[in-house]
Parts: sequence; structure tokens; C-alpha cells
Amino acid sequence: MKKVVLRPSSTRGSSSSSDDGRDQSQSRAHSSNNVRWTACQKNHAASTGGHSLDGCTRFIPGSGPNATYTCASCGCHRNFHKKEEC
Ligand SMILES: [Zn+2]
Repeated sequence: MKKVVLRPSSTRGSSSSSDDGRDQSQSRAHSSNNVRWTACQKNHAASTGGHSLDGCTRFIPGSGPNATYTCASCGCHRNFHKKEEC
């Protein structure tokens, strides 16, 4: 036996005065435009169990199409450098 529950229709008023103009779909997604790469954190003594950094304090992109992500001063990949958003 099926029981059908009929809900009383809500009162229909023509009260469409409040225009919902607030659209919060505009997300401020800051792209990685203002990102700089600072200290290199590659552990050059990882193979020996130690901890030794090369002292590079700033990522300098190398010249050439294939060296864009390689630091010209320490030779490490950019991923080893600390990422800072400014
Ligand atoms: Zn390095």
C-alpha cells in the first residue's frame, strides 16, 4: 500500500523584489606569477647520510631552452629551491 503524502503548496506570492545579484563565483585565484625561488635546499650529502647544502641563496635560471629550470649558480633543479610567493 502506497501512502502518498501531499504537501500543501506554499503560499505563492509575487515577492520577487530581492534580486540576488551577489555572485560569488569570482574566485581570486592568484596564479603563480609572483613567485620567486630562494635558497637551494638540496642535500648534497644525502648519499653519505650527512646534511650539506650548497649555499645557493637564489635560483638563477640558466640560459638555453633546456636550462630554464636549472639553477645557473648551483646547477640544481628549481624544485630544490625554496618557493616564496610575494
Ligand atoms: Zn643547489
